[in-house]
Amino acid sequence: MAAGGTAARPYRRIATEEAWISAELLALYQGMLKEGSAGHPCFDSLWRRYGLGVSERCIAVRERMLDLGARRIGDMDAAGIDVQILLLTTPGVQLLDAETAIALAAVSNDQVGQAVKAHPDRFAALAAIAPQAPQAAAKEPERAVTRLKLKGAVINSHRRGEYLDDRKFWPIFEAAEALHVPIYIHPNTPPPDMIGPLLARGLDGAIYGFAVECGMHLLTIMASGILDRFPKLRMVFGHGADRVLSAMDYPYQYVPQEVAAMERMPLSDQDKKAFFQSNAESVFKL
Ligand code: MN
Repeated sequence: MAAGGTAARPYRRIATEEAWISAELLALYQGMLKEGSAGHPCFDSLWRRYGLGVSERCIAVRERMLDLGARRIGDMDAAGIDVQILLLTTPGVQLLDAETAIALAAVSNDQVGQAVKAHPDRFAALAAIAPQAPQAAAKEPERAVTRLKLKGAVINSHRRGEYLDDRKFWPIFEAAEALHVPIYIHPNTPPPDMIGPLLARGLDGAIYGFAVECGMHLLTIMASGILDRFPKLRMVFGHGADRVLSAMDYPYQYVPQEVAAMERMPLSDQDKKAFFQSNAESVFKL
């Protein structure tokens, strides 16, 4: 076990943004790619490679993303990750029609809830929700948190170019605040009216487009008054500049040596404990 057990160090390593996908959602994505039916040009840039690619890497990413059991835990052991927080991968159910999205979010949450129940010391999870149906999206976290023991909800940033500063989405924030759980904004590829110059240079995805898109989303939320209206709301923004929470972004990024490199950071054990463990425990109430 390369960077394995916790016995030798005074903290657990919690990776807070680890991706999974259900077989149903992957099949829907693959159909949308083949038919060009997403109705959203940015979906192609985000998913064509991993959705349909036949290279060894693409196949491995798909297999790892589908696994919520032994293979994933084996990879965590090999990399020295004690706990993964599981997020239905971007863009989740957000491009589907509202009825399908609501149903698939609930089924996905049931499925990941089972994995957490089977491996409570290795997995925690956030709920998928369908922001295109704001009232349903505001209800699902309660079911997911109280019944399935999930730790918050993930929204994959803009929904067909709509940002969460739009008041129709605010019931979602109200629900999260009332439940005392965070909303995790995971980046998305930028919407059509933003992606042009990035796409032309191959900079549209995680390399930079995610940071542009999610950074703007953060600022729209700060400027909208959401944080004044819901002062106890906690939000997490993925792929940010300040990695105050540790994440691997498995399986998109899976370099087993990554933890060892982070361990070489010139930080005290106390700061490493905050980075790897206690910040995540505080935000997600683990
Ligand atoms: Mn990610």
